[in-house]
Amino acid sequence: MSEEKSAAAELKEKLLIRKKSGTKKLSKEELAKADDFCTGYCDFLNNGKTEREAVKTAISIAEKNGFTEFDRTKNYSAGDKVYVNNRNKALMLCVIGKNGTKNGVRLGIAHIDSPRLDLKPNPLYESNELALFKTHYYGGIKKYQWTAVPLALHGVVVLKDGTVKDVYIGDDENDPCFVVTDLLPHLANEQMTQTMVKAFNGEHLNVLIGSRPFSEDEESENVKLNVMNILYQKYGFKEEDFMSADLTMVPAAKARDIGFDRSMIGAYGHDDKVCAYPALMAAADVKSPEQTVITVLTDREEIGSEGNTGMKSTYMVDFISDLAKADGTELRHVMEKTICLSADVNAAFDPTYASAYESNNSCYVNYGAVITKYTGSGGKYSTSDASAEFMAKVRKILDDADVIWQTGELGKVDGGGGGTIAKFVANWNADVVDLGVPVLSMHAPFEVVSKIDVYETYRALYEFYSFV
Ligand code: MN
Ligand code: MN
Repeated sequence: MSEEKSAAAELKEKLLIRKKSGTKKLSKEELAKADDFCTGYCDFLNNGKTEREAVKTAISIAEKNGFTEFDRTKNYSAGDKVYVNNRNKALMLCVIGKNGTKNGVRLGIAHIDSPRLDLKPNPLYESNELALFKTHYYGGIKKYQWTAVPLALHGVVVLKDGTVKDVYIGDDENDPCFVVTDLLPHLANEQMTQTMVKAFNGEHLNVLIGSRPFSEDEESENVKLNVMNILYQKYGFKEEDFMSADLTMVPAAKARDIGFDRSMIGAYGHDDKVCAYPALMAAADVKSPEQTVITVLTDREEIGSEGNTGMKSTYMVDFISDLAKADGTELRHVMEKTICLSADVNAAFDPTYASAYESNNSCYVNYGAVITKYTGSGGKYSTSDASAEFMAKVRKILDDADVIWQTGELGKVDGGGGGTIAKFVANWNADVVDLGVPVLSMHAPFEVVSKIDVYETYRALYEFYSFV
């Protein structure tokens, strides 16, 4: 009896997948490393809520690690570290490899934009002696989640003469903050019987920003005037300047440890800073790589990668063209040999909403970086789908370095769907697959990830950049 059992156990060992949590695989020392890595990550989150702030913070980390601004008239050699800042909203970091670009480049691409409430071009108004901002939400949100939570105002206002006014208010506990109000349950009988789409629509997302008038006189819109005057005193812009502004309301909360055991992090914007920071640190840590390594922190992913700072723009391949030219080769010859990790998050299995997932093909908290072979929806529509050959290559890189990883689909078939930048990179004739961190409550104002998974994603990117 017992011999038979051990034969089965042996065969199981040989033939079947044996999933094991990172909590059991990692030693105490390795767990401490993961926790330590996440301290830096939390700083990055708190200083990078918008793409502009993330670029600024990433540049300061990059410069501390020896990166200098790229100059296309200069000659670079192996080991040189350069960065390219695209309009303060996207960033590329490059470590020149021993072979340059001849054998293709190693790409790691994450996005630094996150869902939020952008101000409309004419946002300020007064209604019933309350001052409010009209917003136009950015990215896919469940609108009710953005009501009754403290918000901060971040962004820039650019005056006609080009002067840039930085706006950053609401994060410090001594700052005022802002809020989208919601209806009290006592009066919500009608609201509660509506579908969520109807109960909370985009025009409900008005942000409360003031209630006191400028003066006692009978002038109309005095509360609005008072708010505008405060903004004018503090930042020096007028109402018409809102038209040339990138202003956005983001959750005011800071990153916090989650759980009695402090094993997880709750924060705004894990999607996708939780991959951007590991990619940035892997770029900083990679030592004299064989092939040139390029890390892209891109913008506009949450709205379909449109625009000159998104991955549908040519900014990345234009840069690779410059490198290729210097190496005496051509972009197309570089791209066909290029391999890429599209570093983006996936939906972690949530036991409270288990029916949205297919348990054999979901990713789990603490089980490491998740490789998502394809995303899309409705019969693999709109996805690049990594080839078996490329999946094999990535598996080998990760396994050879003992990186903890898992695979996952985005929920169950026909349950919804989504996409990443992978397909846009694939269209340049490169091999690409998604790899990133499993996230709970994705796209909510406060998302959750595991510290182990953040660290293993860093390790995965580092090994991908380093392997010969
Ligand atoms: Mn994402
Ligand atoms: Mn997203």
